[in-house]
Amino acid sequence: MRIDVVSVFPEYFDVMGLSLMGKAQEKGILRITAHNLRDWTHDVHHSVDDTPVGGGAGMVMKPSVWAECLDELLGLDAPDAATPCAGSSADCAGSPVDRAGDAAPAPVVIFPNPSAPLFTQRDATELSHADHLVFGCGRYEGYDARIPEYYRSRGVDVREYSIGDYVLNGGEVATSVMVEAITRLIPGFMGNADSIVEESYTGENALLEHRQYTKPAEWRGLKVPDVLLSGDHGKVDRYRRDEALERTNEIRPDLIERLDCKALDKADRKTLMALGWEVSAAHPRRIR
Ligand code: SAM
Repeated sequence: MRIDVVSVFPEYFDVMGLSLMGKAQEKGILRITAHNLRDWTHDVHHSVDDTPVGGGAGMVMKPSVWAECLDELLGLDAPDAATPCAGSSADCAGSPVDRAGDAAPAPVVIFPNPSAPLFTQRDATELSHADHLVFGCGRYEGYDARIPEYYRSRGVDVREYSIGDYVLNGGEVATSVMVEAITRLIPGFMGNADSIVEESYTGENALLEHRQYTKPAEWRGLKVPDVLLSGDHGKVDRYRRDEALERTNEIRPDLIERLDCKALDKADRKTLMALGWEVSAAHPRRIR
């Protein structure tokens, strides 16, 4: 997978050479390049922002600089300035079919944005199959809304995601979060592929994971649950599954509401019923 990250602080991404992400790059399954957006400016101050149209506080990132940068990274021809690109990609001079090397896999452009839909494990899983991702890190009051609009009109898959209900100073940390969530799902990234099979938020019937323990069996007066020492794998699996259901019920009942009842086994149904859910319809329904 090729990942291009564009930021006015590309140094933020130096850490991507560390740990598993660094190893994946050494193995050649991942290539991450951080670019400085200011490299696409032409003025003496290398300015990337301007005052908001309509007034208001702060500054907004200009579309012109982003466009030069994205055209280059995506291999798109700049349209004829006399024919502004609006409407479908077919209306546009230099649509993606004009991209040099038609065989190149379609890139996905991602703009972190606190006022966008939430980025989830499902998105991470889908994007882990992409060949080329381009992240555009916003700063100030954000970026001109016409940037994603324009690239969508040229047929580019442009996504905007929030990583949570809070506001950060810039898109760098949000990009790091998404890059890590996505790349750890690339085949060959994790030393042990099983580590990503049974995790919180993973799979069709996603739950929070059960709690984890290691040795010693007793530490500072606190014991691990006896069943985990029993050596009975069936009982251990059932205990963990019930714990996952109980924790999810307590912390994220919205995930229980989304479960597919048909995919639950008899013991799952019994546990959910004891927790106050009705499980005979398509999805569990809380009854007490
Ligand atoms: N004016 C914007 C608002 O109120 O929605 C906030 C802009 S924020 C200070 C600057 C940049 O940080 C955004 O353009 C985005 O790239 C990034 N950012 C901040 N919070 C984020 C979040 N929760 N998720 C994703 N990106 C975020």
